[in-house]
Amino acid sequence: MVNVNLKRSEDTIIALDFHPKNVKMKMVKEALRTFMNTKSDIDSSDRFNLVLFRGNPSYLEDFTFNKEYLLSLIDEDPKHINTVRVESFIFMALTFLIEVFKNVGNKFYRIIILTDEDMKPVKEEFMVKDLLNITSDMPVYLDIIRMNVKPSNDPNKDKLETIISWSKGGKLIYVPKIKKLENTMVDLAEKKYNENDDIFEEVKELKVNPKHAGFYENISWEPRMLQDKDLKCMACFKKGRLFECPRCHNAKMHENCWAFWSRNSNIGIRHIFRCPICYSLLMLPKQFVDDVLGEEEKIMEETIQNIEVADQDQILMEKDKEAPKLIESLLNQFE
Ligand SMILES: [Zn+2]
Ligand SMILES: [Zn+2]
Repeated sequence: MVNVNLKRSEDTIIALDFHPKNVKMKMVKEALRTFMNTKSDIDSSDRFNLVLFRGNPSYLEDFTFNKEYLLSLIDEDPKHINTVRVESFIFMALTFLIEVFKNVGNKFYRIIILTDEDMKPVKEEFMVKDLLNITSDMPVYLDIIRMNVKPSNDPNKDKLETIISWSKGGKLIYVPKIKKLENTMVDLAEKKYNENDDIFEEVKELKVNPKHAGFYENISWEPRMLQDKDLKCMACFKKGRLFECPRCHNAKMHENCWAFWSRNSNIGIRHIFRCPICYSLLMLPKQFVDDVLGEEEKIMEETIQNIEVADQDQILMEKDKEAPKLIESLLNQFE
């Protein structure tokens, strides 16, 4: 039986939240290159994004497989890289990740922030608390690296540890000597979920906390009823009143067949699931799904066997051929 939740890879956002005068940029770049290459060698479906602060923070509109393209963005204007508050950055990164999550399934997300001795004091950690709590279901792991800093003289230590504890997991790592950064990054390239006890490696299936159902309902789309009654359902091959995915317009099924499909592709909340063609987050009324899924199991299994699921990795690689653009965040409202 097809279960779209069984395959998982990681997409990582790397933030350069330090002042270039404090570090050898070449060494940082080399460490990032090694990190990304190590990850890609482990899993070629892993993708990357980079956040740079030149005035406003800029980042790629989507994750990319193209590591050298990412690194080339650092070279454009390295001297003008500046820093923002780490909590503002996390807020921005999570907002971006929620947008990605709406259209991309089967992923774990990583945020890695490189900071230095000039880090601004953490003042508004409450700003990210709820978002980190909700997105730990997606899930999002957070690592923060302190370059040129020792734990004993880091005034931000306690607050940073608290912020990390609100995420799915992660570490506060001290790298007093930049030449050790590359080793640190290689350690970080290991998959997060491998070290996590509550996820079986073969299954890697995650359940969203039902308490967060409202949040995930808000970011999902509902299949839209079609007028044309002459179309064939992609699940049961019969004609009738069909509903289509409003994102790709390619997945067309009876409402009941969508409910059947939700059993295999839900995100841990039974009535919120992914489109088999474009992986967008879709939902049906909870009561309707509960009723339909109470029906006979055998019909349901035979029906969803017919659904041809698209290969998400292929979709994402195809999309990446058109290099994602660097966009600017309007983050300064938090400064
Ligand atoms: Zn059908
Ligand atoms: Zn779709």
